Amino acid sequence: MSTLHQRAISRRGFCLCCMAATTVAATKGWLSPREAYAEARNIVDLIRDGAAKTPITVHKLRGNVSILEGSGGNIAVLTGQDGKVFIDAGITASRPRILEAVNLLSNDPIRHLINTHWHFDHADGNAWLNAEGAAIRAHENTHKHLLVAQRVEDWDFNLPAPPLAAVPTEVFSSEKTLKLNGATLALKHYDPAHTDSDISVTFAEADILHAGDTYWNGIYPFIDYSTGGNIRGMIKAAEANLAATTDTTIVIPGHGNPVSKRSELAAYRDMLVDIHEKVSKLKLQGRSLDETIAAKPTATHDAKWGQFVITPALFTKLVYEGV
Ligand SMILES: [Zn+2]
Repeated sequence: MSTLHQRAISRRGFCLCCMAATTVAATKGWLSPREAYAEARNIVDLIRDGAAKTPITVHKLRGNVSILEGSGGNIAVLTGQDGKVFIDAGITASRPRILEAVNLLSNDPIRHLINTHWHFDHADGNAWLNAEGAAIRAHENTHKHLLVAQRVEDWDFNLPAPPLAAVPTEVFSSEKTLKLNGATLALKHYDPAHTDSDISVTFAEADILHAGDTYWNGIYPFIDYSTGGNIRGMIKAAEANLAATTDTTIVIPGHGNPVSKRSELAAYRDMLVDIHEKVSKLKLQGRSLDETIAAKPTATHDAKWGQFVITPALFTKLVYEGV
């Protein structure tokens, strides 16, 4: 295992979104599809091994909402007499540590799970949470993607279809409001952004927004073009998140420091807009992908945003694809 892998795992848990980036970073260049596939298969094991070792850190917010950090994407948990509500499921290997952590929060059984989108590092734990008693809700495109095998082109990787127990049974297309544990949960679909299945979950009374992978706090985001994501959608989603929050809102990103706020979200939106403008200009001048990466359109942002596994080069590629 390289130092980069260890750092990625120890800092944030591991995330499938980052596999391509790790592959590129670890080999200092692009791999052939066959090499990338072999590497990626190893990285799936690394993700599982990483999650198996990473401790779960609990961040108590307010209104009986907490964040669990350390198993793929950031997980939110709402406790109460209707049973625990999970927003995202993390990686299956974290099961004993997640159970230990949430049992310390309350004695309520686990009854509800909402997926912010279909990706492995947010839905791998669906089956065990369902076995604990959770009904799974998600956008209809998450249902669609979890029913069958998926290919994610930017890391040249095929994911097998998960077991049926992992597939959401309650789906919606645009918006859905739930009343659970005395809280109002508003589920809202974004136009295609990180994928075509992203939703936000707002805890109205506690004034908390879980933005899923439309928001990566302090790090360049992955964009999954294979299932409908694109950079313009990411910018639109960031605008929607800004419109949905105030200075007192707690914002939970899919990845990155889990307790965030509107001012950090605004900085993220500004970074996306600036890099999109620079990459667009280069592509419209006729520059190839390699020439665009060589021009370093992300340079002024790299010290702040380029320190995780989505490297400046990969993020430039992800933006270039969408121009
Ligand atoms: Zn994702």
